Amino acid sequence: MSKVKNKKLKLKKRNFLVFLIVLIIVVGSIAFSIIPKKETKKIAKTKKDIKLEQLENIDQKITYFNYKYIDRYINYKKENPDLDIKQIITDVNIGIDQKYYTNTKKSINLNTPQILVNKYNYLEEDYIPDNLEDIDLNYARSGMKLVNYAKEAFEEMAKDAKKEGYTIIAMSSYRSYTYQVNLYNRYKESDGAEIADTYSGRPGHSEHQTGLAVDVYNGKIDYTNFEKTEEFNWMQENAYKYGFILRFPKDKIKQTGYDYESWHYRYVGKDIAKYIHKNNICFEEYYIQKIEKY
Ligand SMILES: [Zn+2]
Repeated sequence: MSKVKNKKLKLKKRNFLVFLIVLIIVVGSIAFSIIPKKETKKIAKTKKDIKLEQLENIDQKITYFNYKYIDRYINYKKENPDLDIKQIITDVNIGIDQKYYTNTKKSINLNTPQILVNKYNYLEEDYIPDNLEDIDLNYARSGMKLVNYAKEAFEEMAKDAKKEGYTIIAMSSYRSYTYQVNLYNRYKESDGAEIADTYSGRPGHSEHQTGLAVDVYNGKIDYTNFEKTEEFNWMQENAYKYGFILRFPKDKIKQTGYDYESWHYRYVGKDIAKYIHKNNICFEEYYIQKIEKY
């Protein structure tokens, strides 16, 4: 072997050795940085799994499941063991596992049929829809306003009812923030806040401020007895066809936060009204399951 060749071989050997060392360092450091991370991930995932198991792993199946609320779901389930898991998630998303008027937020979808105004979602003091119109006096007391598209739907409904011999009259519709301040204060003075809250919205929390809600009667019997009238039965069968829903049903007092009101209707548009009517849910439930983004 020549000296040159020997030198070349030595150089090759050295290069290989250097390469090997570098390789070991690189692989080693990668392994070190990955393995501990993987382990922590595993532990965190297990905790999550344990929590999800308590909720029947529903997050995989339900689009409105929000992991942010996991502890609230678990607590609410403990307090309400008879409720099915979908109801638990819906109720917590509405907010009813916590007291009314806590964690309130500004309503979104302003001036659309999708707006939700309730004990957790409010309108600001200066919110006045810019498309309010007077309801035809054939179907309303004087000065009753709704936003134009709800007004048109209401008049069409009342007109069709009249053709069949039923009288639907709007006796309260759009109400301003200030009007609600006076109304609520009056109720609070006579009944106390706790009772007033069961039937009257606090200022900003009344759906009447949206211009999409209307209280009706038949022109003869006091509105509080609307349930006993033929007109009520007609509304039960037909209101949804015009985009209106009975907003505070008997079996949804907890979800809506209001006592049953046979006279209070809300315009939500035909598609939503039809869905709510068919599935026997209230607007809060629809909102959580179909409108709110997660
Ligand atoms: Zn009302």
